[in-house]
Amino acid sequence: MAVYLCHEQPDLLEHESVIVESRPGAVVLDRSALHPGGGGQLGDQAELSTVTGNLNVISIEVGEDGRWWHLLDDSTAEVHGDVLVKINGERRRRIAALHTMSHVLNALVFEEFDGTLVTGAQINDDGTGRMDFDLSEVDNDRLRALADPLNRIISDGVSVATDYVVADEAAEAHGLVRSLSVAPPPTPDGRLRIVVVEGIDRQACGGTHLTNTAQSPPLTIDKIENKGRRNRRIRFSAAGPFPT
Ligand SMILES: [Zn+2]
Repeated sequence: MAVYLCHEQPDLLEHESVIVESRPGAVVLDRSALHPGGGGQLGDQAELSTVTGNLNVISIEVGEDGRWWHLLDDSTAEVHGDVLVKINGERRRRIAALHTMSHVLNALVFEEFDGTLVTGAQINDDGTGRMDFDLSEVDNDRLRALADPLNRIISDGVSVATDYVVADEAAEAHGLVRSLSVAPPPTPDGRLRIVVVEGIDRQACGGTHLTNTAQSPPLTIDKIENKGRRNRRIRFSAAGPFPT
């Protein structure tokens, strides 16, 4: 995948842009700091201010040619020209918090259960999320008990950074690419984006993240579900307000 503008400038939540292609209910912009979503990550939403009024981007559809069609809440609107893009920062932060902490939960399960792999993940924008793990014979209380170290890592305020490594080397590093279903493809020059939760986790990921775990509200593990013989689903949610 290309390096997204939101990867290079994660704090860029408002910028000018030009509509380069338009169809009813959708536009392509010359630049966009929205995250398009994918791999368990929800895309960003934004307000577009145009000379004829405001419209909302509700999701992004990535075309086969790689262009990002920003889908509008008004499916008949046809807009052209210059726009001001205002990303919903509160929603971005909510998703980034749960997403970042899902990396930590992944690392805790990986360590506690001997290299167990994640088989799926979904973060919702209502402050809830789930992760599925390839686990069969396991006491669910041991999974629930991971809420303690998870919240300790939040209160410790661990820094979160991104790095790029050569994709071929990453494939050989134990535990770095834990789930091919959620790992991003390499950049055109063969690098993988790695998200580093200092001292806890290194993981290939193309999503949006916090820069410090202290930016997450405390979390609760709400439910463990058996999804088939070899799959456990951990449901978790925010136990407090998200920092603004
Ligand atoms: Zn991530």
